[in-house]
Amino acid sequence: MSGCLFCDIVAREKPARIVFEDERCVAFEDIRPHAPVHLLLVPRKHISSLNEDLSAEKELLGHLLVAAAKLAKENGIDGTGYRITINTNAGAGQTIFHLHVHILGGRTMR
Ligand code: 5GP
Ligand code: ZN
Repeated sequence: MSGCLFCDIVAREKPARIVFEDERCVAFEDIRPHAPVHLLLVPRKHISSLNEDLSAEKELLGHLLVAAAKLAKENGIDGTGYRITINTNAGAGQTIFHLHVHILGGRTMR
């Protein structure tokens, strides 16, 4: 989608430290990390948030969670623990309206 930062990152039109990609999703480091490991995992397809009707996207949503767990393991935070967050709408802190999974770990979460 034009004007979407994460679509631009997926298309390699804006820079990011990409750590993983497959046919459906791309993961990159958050520019303002809140933890030693802070990755953002996004679908290639533009979906604005969980507030969309995603009844036809169950496989993609499952794929994102499986990929998030794999990334946690590869980044060595599966044992100590990690947090997966999907902020939905402004009141919950969503600032970028392209669905993204935060993967946070490497410190104790309060
Ligand atoms: P939200 O607040 O929408 O759940 O998360 C958006 C996240 O995107 C924030 O954690 C923010 O630091 C990150 N972010 C914002 N702009 C950029 C950018 O240009 N590059 C990267 N890698 N992350 C960004
Ligand atoms: Zn987008």
